Amino acid sequence: MNERTDLYSLTEDELSQFFVSLGEAAYRGKQVFPRLQSGERLCDITNLSKAVREKLADLTVDTLPLVEEKLVSKIDGTIKYLFKLYDGSFVESVLMRYKHGNTICISSQVGCRMGCKFCASTIGGKVRDLYPSELIGQVAVAQRDSGERISNIVMMGIGEPLDNFDNVIKFLKLVNSEHGLNIGYRHISLSTCGVVSGINRLGDECFPITLSISLHASNDKKRSEIMPINNKWNIEALLSACVGYYKKTGRRISFEYTLISGKNDSTEDATELATLLKDAFRGTNAPIHVNLIRVNEVRETGFKEGDTVSVANFQRRLESLGITATVRRRLGADVNAACGQLRRTRNTEAVKN
Ligand code: SAH
Repeated sequence: MNERTDLYSLTEDELSQFFVSLGEAAYRGKQVFPRLQSGERLCDITNLSKAVREKLADLTVDTLPLVEEKLVSKIDGTIKYLFKLYDGSFVESVLMRYKHGNTICISSQVGCRMGCKFCASTIGGKVRDLYPSELIGQVAVAQRDSGERISNIVMMGIGEPLDNFDNVIKFLKLVNSEHGLNIGYRHISLSTCGVVSGINRLGDECFPITLSISLHASNDKKRSEIMPINNKWNIEALLSACVGYYKKTGRRISFEYTLISGKNDSTEDATELATLLKDAFRGTNAPIHVNLIRVNEVRETGFKEGDTVSVANFQRRLESLGITATVRRRLGADVNAACGQLRRTRNTEAVKN
């Protein structure tokens, strides 16, 4: 990003200092911060003089994402955005409407280097991390574009948030700030494939956000086959980091379990999963919740989803063993190619042209 300042990544105080460094009054920071954070462009902030805006335009880079494509579900109103970033990269975000408010699922990186075998986002590897501004930008631009207040955020889009740790932490502080989008930490979930060092550091920050763990298997052999991260931090290391996170933050941890036909969806798998979780959290009182997701079929991976009977049996077995489990509703079925696929299609087209 060379030497230019990324205004949207600055806190209110940092923005004030930036104005002072330009010979402007510090109060400008207070004035401009809420407007930038809500997704306004410099050229629209007309309470700054034209001369100041021109000076800023020379010294800064505009990282606000642009809506490249927008697909609205006819079934449930879910909106899938393909955003174009300042360097021409693409990421996806999905705005979902629930009774309790609007939730946006945002991306944390362009691509991903975690290599999960069922996932479309990782097929081309990682291109780069997203800046705090680009994380904020997905929320702010979607809110502005849809005209709907966004009250919840899930970091479950493209990328591994804990592999972009510092920018994600800065984003959490920005999005929570009173004069910014002011979204409460309790309304934010972060999903990880199991970067244990990141879970430990996140716990030390003590944000009351919800941690979601992409577990997807109940023993190391199966997990290592589909998730390479398991070779670095195995299930035991992962679950002990989760217990540590719970002890530090008191926040409930949810586990994501993608059901793949014939791989991890038998009743024996369910039994093993329930035992694993109960043993790991024994004596902690931590509320544990499992979200069951039917695998989205991605052409390149060859994994298939199971039928509704096997999904229901899996859920029933977990519940009978005392683990609460929800089968995720599939929102935006008509616009939602598996996560990461819209970007992939766009990139493949770009290569062809
Ligand atoms: N890297 C983070 C967040 C992004 S992935 C993580 O791994 O948690 C968000 C969720 O989608 C994860 O639970 C991931 O395992 C799941 N996922 C990825 N590809 C999928 C697919 N084809 N079908 C169903 N779930 C998938």
